[in-house]
Amino acid sequence: MPELPEVETVRRGLTPAMEGEVIERADVNRPDLRWPFPERMAERLTGARVQRLGRRSKYILADLDTGETLLIHLGMSGRMTVSGDPLGQFVHDHPMPEKHDHVVFHMANGARVTFNDPRRFGAMDLLPTATAAEHKLLSVLGPEPLGNDFHEQHLVDSFRGKNTPVKSALLDQGIVAGLGNIYVCEALFRAGISPRRKAGKISAARVATLVPIIRQVLSDAIDAGGSSLKDFRQADGELGYFQHSFDVYGREDEPCRTPGCGGTVTRITQSGRSSFYCPQCQR
Ligand SMILES: [Zn+2]
Repeated sequence: MPELPEVETVRRGLTPAMEGEVIERADVNRPDLRWPFPERMAERLTGARVQRLGRRSKYILADLDTGETLLIHLGMSGRMTVSGDPLGQFVHDHPMPEKHDHVVFHMANGARVTFNDPRRFGAMDLLPTATAAEHKLLSVLGPEPLGNDFHEQHLVDSFRGKNTPVKSALLDQGIVAGLGNIYVCEALFRAGISPRRKAGKISAARVATLVPIIRQVLSDAIDAGGSSLKDFRQADGELGYFQHSFDVYGREDEPCRTPGCGGTVTRITQSGRSSFYCPQCQR
C-alpha cells in the first residue's frame, strides 16, 4: 500500500508530464473505482490545463485552469505510469492498454498518463479548487508531517491524556496526515519508543523528539524514491514503488540494528495491523 513517500514520488514523477500541460483527452473506462467518478469527468478534464500538481497527505491534487481540482488517490494497489517522450525524460513507448487501465490522460505534449488499479480501492474526484480543503477526504486531515504546522507543541498537545497506544495515535490522520504503518514503525524505532506505550504517558520531551525523527524517516524515503525516478530510462515508466530498506518493518526475528542492543525485532498485532519493534531498546 503506497504511503506518503510513495505518493510524493508519484507526484514528482508525474510533474514533468503534467504540470503546466493540457489534457487533450481523458479516457474514463468505467463508472467508478472505490466510489463513482464525478459526473462527466472525461468531459470536464478535456482541454484543461494542469496549473499545479500538489499533494495533501496521500492525495495528489491537480489544480486545473477550469477552477476545479482533480483529486487522485492510489488506494491499495493503484499505479500510475507515464509513457511517451514529452520532455526527453521518458523514453517508454505507449504500452498496449491493459485490463485494469481505468483512466488514461492523453497530454497535449505527447505524454500518456495511465491509472491502473486491479483492486479498485483508489479514487478520483473533481472538486472546486477554492473550497478543496473542505472536501470530506481533506477536511479531516491534521497537519502535513513535513509542513510547518507539524511541530513539537502540536504533538505534545495531541498526545496529552490519550489512553491509546502511541502507534495508534500516530496513525490517527487527524493528529498528523499521511503517516502509515511502515513509517510509524520506523519512526518509533528511531525514537526508542515502544509502539505499545500509551501516548498520554510519554514525557513531553520524548514526544518532542518524534517530530524531527518522523520528518527524517519520511525525507529519507522520499530521497530513495527520487533515486528510483532517476532510473526511469531503464524502468518501465511506473511511478512510486521503489526499493527501500527498513530498520524494523518486515524484519521479524532478525537482529536489532541498534549498536550494542543485541535484541530481536518482534512483531505484534495492534488494531489488526502488524507492529515491528525491538522490545529491548524501545521502551
Ligand atoms: Zn534493539
